[in-house]
Amino acid sequence: MTDCIFCNIIAGEIPSCKVYEDQEVLAFLDISQTTPGHTLVIPKEHVRNILDMSESTASVLFSRVPKIARAVQKAMDAPAMNIINNNEPIAGQTVFHAHVHLVPRYSENDGINITYSVHEPDFNILGKMAEQIAQEVRA
Ligand code: AMP
Ligand code: ZN
Repeated sequence: MTDCIFCNIIAGEIPSCKVYEDQEVLAFLDISQTTPGHTLVIPKEHVRNILDMSESTASVLFSRVPKIARAVQKAMDAPAMNIINNNEPIAGQTVFHAHVHLVPRYSENDGINITYSVHEPDFNILGKMAEQIAQEVRA
């Protein structure tokens, strides 16, 4: 046993309901089942979150997401899906082994609220922010 729940799931040391597995990626049902079929997709490599992830691990992880998401959608007959990822505690991360949430959605009135409020944009501020970020991407 390690002190990482998801590494223990990968090793088969704690039980999980697996829906997909290959050499590099595992997907299994989330115990919280926010909605029926709520699934987690994880890299087998232990990495804290996407902020810590290499491009190659991200390629491996995200390349599997559409296929697994479509399978969850089809099996659960879900008309829609939120695909969510939380990085660090302020953003709601509670398990520190990177994972992508697939949350099938069945109704707009299911009590799950993922909305972004729209503010009147100040393009001067946005432009400066974009330039700061762009510089870091290039660095
Ligand atoms: P997050 O809050 O984004 O870090 O998500 C962690 C998720 O892991 C939560 O939705 C938990 O319900 C889920 N989780 C924690 N322990 C287990 C477990 N043993 N098997 C399946 N899912 C788990
Ligand atoms: Zn781990």
